[in-house]
Amino acid sequence: MNLAHWLARRSKEDPFRPALFSGRTLVSDYGGFDMQARAVASWLLGQGVGPGDRVAIFMKNIPDYLVVLFGIWYAGAAAVPVNAKLHGREADYILDDADAKIVFASASQGASLSGGRPVISVPGDAYRAILRSDPVAEIAPRDTAELAWLFYTSGTTGKPKGVIITHGMLLSMALCYRADVDQVLSTDAALYAAPLSHGAGLYTLMHVQAGARHVCPVSGGFDVAEIMELASHFTGVHMFAAPTMVKRMTDGAKAAGWDGSGLRTVVYGGGPMYNADIIQAVDQFGAVFVQIYGQGECPMGITALPREVVSDRDHPAWRHRLASVGRAQSAVEVQIGDANGAAVPAGQPGEIMVRGQTVMQGYWNNPEATAKTLREGWLMTGDIGVMDQQGFVTLQDRSKDVIISGGSNVYPREVEEVLLQHADVAEASVVGRTHPEWGEVIVAFVVGTAPEAELDALCLAQIARFKRPKEYIRLPELPKNNYGKVLKTELRKLLG
Ligand code: AMP
Repeated sequence: MNLAHWLARRSKEDPFRPALFSGRTLVSDYGGFDMQARAVASWLLGQGVGPGDRVAIFMKNIPDYLVVLFGIWYAGAAAVPVNAKLHGREADYILDDADAKIVFASASQGASLSGGRPVISVPGDAYRAILRSDPVAEIAPRDTAELAWLFYTSGTTGKPKGVIITHGMLLSMALCYRADVDQVLSTDAALYAAPLSHGAGLYTLMHVQAGARHVCPVSGGFDVAEIMELASHFTGVHMFAAPTMVKRMTDGAKAAGWDGSGLRTVVYGGGPMYNADIIQAVDQFGAVFVQIYGQGECPMGITALPREVVSDRDHPAWRHRLASVGRAQSAVEVQIGDANGAAVPAGQPGEIMVRGQTVMQGYWNNPEATAKTLREGWLMTGDIGVMDQQGFVTLQDRSKDVIISGGSNVYPREVEEVLLQHADVAEASVVGRTHPEWGEVIVAFVVGTAPEAELDALCLAQIARFKRPKEYIRLPELPKNNYGKVLKTELRKLLG
């Protein structure tokens, strides 16, 4: 089933229902949203782009993001959403790997690309002309096993891998949301303060299915004062927020004396949430929080901790449960495995493994990475965790050394590779330093005489700004084990 049917049904049922907002301003009702998406599809088909093809979206969060996304699906093509914060060079790699036929891009994002395919600037004259195309009458049929969204997650090698997310996986994700995470009401307003190229974009689906409103902040991102203002205006606001965003919201609300009125649901996940922070957040905003644990390879879909548990202060084990990521969602099995992938008893740590309807079948054109990550149908998450007798899973550590800064993942190897390009850098290793506001900040240990300013310039030229080290520490040599592998644990100890 093509997911675009959900939009078609909503618009048929109630074409005048408000759909897309830029800040407080209504820009489209469901009928208009549907017609515009059909016009995009019609134009794509006219360009020879249709079922099986990939179309990239390299855009900031604006209402047309949803029009383009559903337009791509109406045509039977697959979307390749690219984080708008990426450097043009990084985006080029993704577009080439995905073999995207066309890119819809915000002006500065489009200008950063090196070419190789048509770029449609959104908004812009060409895009406005596209919206005047004759809308397609039919929705291209798509099987649940077919590609809907090619999601690029960075690999530890520094090269991003495309996760094949099918219509069926997104269907399971959206249905599990309603079964395990929370209700979705037609009176909700989905506020997109986190990038639509990631989880927040996937969450457009159940809100389209429910006929809810979709609101893109005018700032295009996360601004606490703006969120307060929009929540009070719309009421029934739903949003996804990384744990560091939740903390900033709590601090901002305390300072402004805001009790969270207008916020109905805040889904948090994507990184560790500390008990002290979530307790303060619930004290400030009430029972609005739910947690999910997912991965690009199992989008938003591994476990969930519903609002009753997040706000429970009576159960004898409430603190333990609050520190967990919850229990398996309905469409998947979750187990904790030993080094061979065999299930370990409750209470013992091991690698978190997942299999089921929301789990990917593989990476795009990358059988080696697929074979390493999927074992007999199980997705090996690379996360170490413990499951208790009641099925609550607690994440202990990330076996991968990913740094999560301000809700965005930074893979150290990617930064290290850039630093090592400097002739006066002999060795480099990048780790995260805990930071009260950003979760973690990036620290580079460097062996060599390269000046900081030159290293900074090298990073600026090649990778996204948020991946640049905030601090450089010189060492005569990096600590290593017997196999010559750098010991990041020792480096982290040096940070104190
Ligand atoms: P990504 O594939 O970029 O979405 O990153 C997924 C990784 O983020 C997971 O493998 C976890 O290490 C981490 N993660 C996701 N959700 C949570 C959560 N609720 N609590 C702690 N870490 C999380």
